[in-house]
Amino acid sequence: MAIILDGNKIATEIKNEVAAQVKSLATAGIRPGLAAVLAGNDPASEIYVRNKVRACEQLGIYSEKLTLPASVTTQEMLDLVNTLNQRDDVDGILVQLPLPPQVDSKRVLLAVSPEKDVDGFHPVNVGYLSTQRPGLNPCTPAGVIEILKRSGIEIAGRDAVVLGRSDIVGKPVAMMLINDNATVMVCHSRTIDLAAHTRTADILVAAIGKPAMVTPDMVKRGATVIDVGINRVTDKKKVSEYFGDDPKRHDEFSRKGSTLVGDVHPEVSEVAGAITPVPGGVGPLTIAMLMSNTVKAARMRRGIATQ
Ligand code: NDP
Repeated sequence: MAIILDGNKIATEIKNEVAAQVKSLATAGIRPGLAAVLAGNDPASEIYVRNKVRACEQLGIYSEKLTLPASVTTQEMLDLVNTLNQRDDVDGILVQLPLPPQVDSKRVLLAVSPEKDVDGFHPVNVGYLSTQRPGLNPCTPAGVIEILKRSGIEIAGRDAVVLGRSDIVGKPVAMMLINDNATVMVCHSRTIDLAAHTRTADILVAAIGKPAMVTPDMVKRGATVIDVGINRVTDKKKVSEYFGDDPKRHDEFSRKGSTLVGDVHPEVSEVAGAITPVPGGVGPLTIAMLMSNTVKAARMRRGIATQ
């Protein structure tokens, strides 16, 4: 059975380090600040932002939630972002996606100053990552790398396969693995014979958004499997298909009417050497890395060395 890579434990470790940095910045009169911008009342966005604001409070980071009406225009969003770009008490700007359909999301993201772009989505930061210059890296991919490194899993010289090529997860994870000297292959929906590729992986990262799609026959024995996927299961039959008669999952399903599964079938833990669970794997790292990025942005903007 695979070793379970505990994302909650690693996230706590990182948050403790961030809190210590916040404390030491406070002695110099600096308090890192994060502004979270959302538009409309998408319930999922509300929950994500609430969790991010709560994490800031726990670590001593100043935070501000700015909610715009669903009818907001692109220009109004651009104006707000520009104001935040100029505010000295704001080190990080987070634009929670999705924005309402009439808003040009790409333009809004491009307007965020690269030095405050704590999501790491701005092309300037994408360029810094691909050329290995200091910058702000996207949170979920950075979390994947932290899990590997802090679990003592060697990256250099290993064959890594990344499933998914999104700008948010797949591509930056692949770039980070290259930067850490893995030999990397990126697969996507047009890949022919996915399993032939995944079976070569020492490190397999799944970020495709397809419930339990990676099955045991697709994984090399002993491989490290990082499951980025978060998929809600609302069909009772599927709960049995994915989790067998696991009483915890069935109990959760009876209480809430749903449970979560990753992109990796839970039975993969029978062949993998190490695996991240869902929930409690990559998910908690995303917020921890956002906190870390906010402090990093605060330091970089003031010319203070970052670790
Ligand atoms: P996207 O939908 O943007 O990208 C999915 C990628 O998977 C695409 O590159 C797509 O290929 C590829 N893909 C889709 N179907 C297949 C298939 N059958 N075979 C091979 N490749 C396929 O998703 P994201 O990258 O944003 O997210 C991926 C998953 O990670 C989702 O489950 C999401 O919920 C989760 N996630 C989790 C986070 C966390 O904090 N843990 C944060 C962000 C995302 P193509 O490019 O050809 O279309």
